[in-house]
Amino acid sequence: MSQRGRRFFWAVLVGLVCLGLTLAVARVATRGYLSEAQARAESTLRQTANALEGHLRRFEALPELLADAPEMRDLVTQPEDPARRMAMNRWLKAKNGVVQSSDLYVMDLAGDTLAASNYDRADSFVGQNFAYRPYFLDAAAGGKGRFFALGTTSGVRGYYFGAPIRDAQGQVAGVVALKIGIDDIEASWRTWEYRIIVSDPEGIIFMSTDPGWRYRGLLPLTEARLARTEASRRYAEVRLEELEVQRGNEAGFDLMRLVAEDGREHEYLATAQDMPGAGWTVHVLLDTASLRAQARLAVAAFVLLLAVALSLAVVVVQRRARLAERIAMQAAAQVELERQVQERTADLMRVNRQIEMEVAERRLTEQELRQTQADLVQAGKLAALGQMSAALSHEINQPLAAARNYADSAALLIERGDGARARDNIGQILALIDRMAAIARHLRHVARKPDEVLKVLSLPAVLDEAMVVAGARLEAAGVEVVADLPASLPPVKGGPVRLQQVLVNVLSNAADAMEGAALRRIEVSAREDGGRVILSVRDHGPGVPPAIADRIFDPFFTTKTVGAGLGLGLSISYNIMKDFSGDLRVANHPEGGAVFDIVLQAATAGQLAAE
Ligand code: ADP
Repeated sequence: MSQRGRRFFWAVLVGLVCLGLTLAVARVATRGYLSEAQARAESTLRQTANALEGHLRRFEALPELLADAPEMRDLVTQPEDPARRMAMNRWLKAKNGVVQSSDLYVMDLAGDTLAASNYDRADSFVGQNFAYRPYFLDAAAGGKGRFFALGTTSGVRGYYFGAPIRDAQGQVAGVVALKIGIDDIEASWRTWEYRIIVSDPEGIIFMSTDPGWRYRGLLPLTEARLARTEASRRYAEVRLEELEVQRGNEAGFDLMRLVAEDGREHEYLATAQDMPGAGWTVHVLLDTASLRAQARLAVAAFVLLLAVALSLAVVVVQRRARLAERIAMQAAAQVELERQVQERTADLMRVNRQIEMEVAERRLTEQELRQTQADLVQAGKLAALGQMSAALSHEINQPLAAARNYADSAALLIERGDGARARDNIGQILALIDRMAAIARHLRHVARKPDEVLKVLSLPAVLDEAMVVAGARLEAAGVEVVADLPASLPPVKGGPVRLQQVLVNVLSNAADAMEGAALRRIEVSAREDGGRVILSVRDHGPGVPPAIADRIFDPFFTTKTVGAGLGLGLSISYNIMKDFSGDLRVANHPEGGAVFDIVLQAATAGQLAAE
């Protein structure tokens, strides 16, 4: 079944259950209220019947008592005596006043009224014949007469008691009758919340809180009933009709629907009780409108309660549905998240593998590079060795060949006895040997690191010494040196001999570079820079071409012709400056010429004190 179909099914089921419950509650409530009302109605019924019975009983024995009076016997034995009849009239009127009955009268055996308490009224009974009344017939037959009827003369409803009047021999000579009214009793009911009706044995209503129901038949007015009623002339000339009544039964309670005084049909809860003595049936009717209203109110309250309960149930169900929906959404989100995490993890692993591969590739490349570098270094070394060998062999072969020539000449000169020139040649040979020794010394400098201790030096002093050493060469080249060192220049750290060597080297190179230049001047300046002192040597030569600027510090790099330079000067100088924790740098002056910066560490106060 689809979601909608299921919902519809549940809605119909709940609707049916609610309807069933409401009907059950309506039934139970109606029954409850009816049962309670029935109890009240029955109690009222008992009270009403008892009161009525009691009222009749009060008068029951009176006719017999009065029948025993001698006046009565006298009258029935001598009925023609007008004085006696008048006396009797008065007597009856007096007694009627005492017993508070409606009428009191005496009849002869023919049923003719001889005397009556109402003798002086226009509708007096005197002279009237009541032989047809059952109470007369019963009493004339020697028994007790009781009868209810509408007075044929007075038109007033009343209950009649009859008793025989006996003569001296005990024979029935007449009848005394007593009539009591019932209007007062009926009037006393009218204020009650109940409808009270009293019907005769034929089912005809003669007492009623609703005057409209009076003389109406509760039972079908059959021929026999009408004939019996007619015979006793119980209701005189009144036209009898059937009462339109619908009887019903609900949950064991008798219900009647009648048109009441107000002209509208009402439903009543009906209770009834027989009064055997009078032959009456007393009915107490209770209007069910208020009961039904109460039941309806109870049902409405129940429906309201049910609606509240249903609303709560709907809210709970909806909340649970929403909760379930949210949980499902969260679960879906969780699944999605896990999927994304898995995806990302897979991506990461892929990237990781790629990186690992790249790293491996790089390592391989690096290894290859190292190998290449090592190969290059090896090749470079071999090349340097070759270069040096060529330079060395040239440097050494040349003086060797010259020395050999001088030695040959010296030998010839000695043979010739030219001792002076021979000595001269030997002097030349010695000079050549000195030169070779110098080369050997230079080579030692390249190969070995000197263990000279660093000292605190005065830069101007070292410069002066270097100028003296290089003086002859500078002079030969026609170079002028202009030194301008500030007096405040701090002392520096370095080895005096090696620093001098560096300066001589740089000055010599400057002089070499200015060969053939118009202005042959070297400018030497110095400045303090932080904890360092920078000595700048500027020449006016062609400068260092950028292409070779970073190679001039390499060992054996030279642009000079073979024999003119070894290419070791700057390389040695560079290493010396590094030994001093300093530096040697080259740049070209904007106005031409090279500038060599000799960078030195300034001596600290502590070092000065130690000196
Ligand atoms: P060598 O003087 O024996 O050639 P160096 O190491 O002293 O060896 O110098 C290396 C090279 O640096 C020189 O051959 C020259 O080309 C260049 N060089 C050095 N000083 C100067 C300078 N002041 N001006 C121009 N070039 C220079």
